[in-house]
Amino acid sequence: MQAEIIAIGTELLLGQTIDTNSAWIGERLAELGVTLRRKTVVADIPDDVRAALNSVLPETRWVLITGGLGPTKDDLTKSVLNEYFGGTLAFHPDVYAHIEAMFARMGRVPGPLNRGQAELPNVCEPLVNSKGTAPGMMFHRDGVRFVSMPGVPYEMKHLMEVHVLPRMRAESDAHIAHRFFMVQGIPESELAARIGDWESTLSKGLSLAYLPSPGIVKLRLTARTESADEAERLLEPATEGLRSVLGSDIFSEDWKTIEEVVGERLAAAGQTVATAESCTGGSIAALLTRVPGSSRYMLGGIVAYANEIKVRTLGVNEADLLMHGAVSESVVRAMARGARKRFGADWGVASSGVAGPDGGSAEKPVGTVWLAVSGPGIEWAARFQMGDHRERTVRKSVLEVLNRLRGFLPEEPVKY
Ligand code: AMP
Ligand code: MG
Repeated sequence: MQAEIIAIGTELLLGQTIDTNSAWIGERLAELGVTLRRKTVVADIPDDVRAALNSVLPETRWVLITGGLGPTKDDLTKSVLNEYFGGTLAFHPDVYAHIEAMFARMGRVPGPLNRGQAELPNVCEPLVNSKGTAPGMMFHRDGVRFVSMPGVPYEMKHLMEVHVLPRMRAESDAHIAHRFFMVQGIPESELAARIGDWESTLSKGLSLAYLPSPGIVKLRLTARTESADEAERLLEPATEGLRSVLGSDIFSEDWKTIEEVVGERLAAAGQTVATAESCTGGSIAALLTRVPGSSRYMLGGIVAYANEIKVRTLGVNEADLLMHGAVSESVVRAMARGARKRFGADWGVASSGVAGPDGGSAEKPVGTVWLAVSGPGIEWAARFQMGDHRERTVRKSVLEVLNRLRGFLPEEPVKY
């Protein structure tokens, strides 16, 4: 079943309001297996709204319209739809009573503009909106439903949940199930090459999507089938196959973040961590402590930005700094060891790099980052080239070093 969106609002085109409504609707329809074929964003201009209605695709069964339903002059969706479907406006006393009740709750009485909100085209089915004063409207033409909803996100969601999604679910012929696999530090193209063979053997009914963000790629495996059982039958062997290709490069199979996985493993092992950060400026510590309960395993951290602080607080060797520079293997290793010792932690993690935009050289261009992990019987350090975008370099460094730490921690809860 196919649907499309018409989002009405000049502010959406000016970039003043981000069209979050369409994103939300897109997610809900994907869950139902309804194909959202396209969205059209138009200004508060009647001709443009009419043009959008006229260009609805022939296979579309649901047209979800949001915006332009307020009581003010720039909100003209209702009059355009009324004219488009050849109706006349009729006053609905029950809708007006609801508007009065909503105002009464705020100690106010409705004005003449609000009275207009109770006038609805006689050719629509009114959709009760208990979250706001503008009712939704549903029009039918040649087997196509046109649903008009307010732009206010929580009102739109309410109307969708109460009036629209249940009907769509009943009509949808597809069952949709997703599985997510999170991978860190492997570029999308490299990942695609690694899992290419597996991907080409996916059964009919399964599809794969790559959802990349800086440092992380989420793989979404989707089954589109006629029943939940059938979806499981397809997903299970495909999941096994992907696990055997990627192994522990999958850091999570649900929506868990790296810092949550690291936290679980540290807590299960009864171990602790401390940080020594230069180029990441405390972001590793910030991410670790975002997880509730992280005080069980996160002891503390030092932001050692100046060389002098690296020497004085972390015990980095001055000669190493002079000979190799702050962005070097010997310094980042010493920082990780220093954090571990200073805080009495089981694990120390450290960063030192050239985040940019200045400070790069031929030998160490902008984006050069050294990361290190020091722990019981383990010391690891490696150099990375993170690119020339300061924020992304920090983000990618934080994820990389935490994912390395994850790799050193026991997977199964340690039993005492
Ligand atoms: P309207 O129904 O056009 O009066 O819109 C009411 C409010 O909802 C305004 O603050 C809009 O900026 C906001 N809004 C309208 N359309 C959207 C949309 N597609 N996504 C998010 N917010 C929206
Ligand atoms: Mg508007």
